[in-house]
Amino acid sequence: MPRKSASRRSSQESRPFRAGRNGFPTCARTLGTFIAYKAIRAGVPMVHVDPAYTSQGCSACGHIDKKNRTTQATFVCTSCGFAEHADVNAARNIASRGVAAWAVSYAADDAA
Ligand SMILES: [Zn+2]
Repeated sequence: MPRKSASRRSSQESRPFRAGRNGFPTCARTLGTFIAYKAIRAGVPMVHVDPAYTSQGCSACGHIDKKNRTTQATFVCTSCGFAEHADVNAARNIASRGVAAWAVSYAADDAA
């Protein structure tokens, strides 16, 4: 009887996601799915947030304007004057949306 190799699987079977040369997913959507997969495996809770206008919105006052981005790296609010690195400002907006989404998602669990 021929010996079967149970551990031999194709690379597609062993990797649930299509990886680029660096081992990470090649597009943003796949990256989101990859992160969700890893979070579930690690038992880490995760919430999705809408990324729309997070780079144009002011994390201090909430004012949204394309002109808030003076350069690719610089954010200066045209309403309140708040200034910060554009990526840090966008990260603050994403974090605050995550906190809000978390409260909505898990408030019902806490009430039960
Ligand atoms: Zn502002």
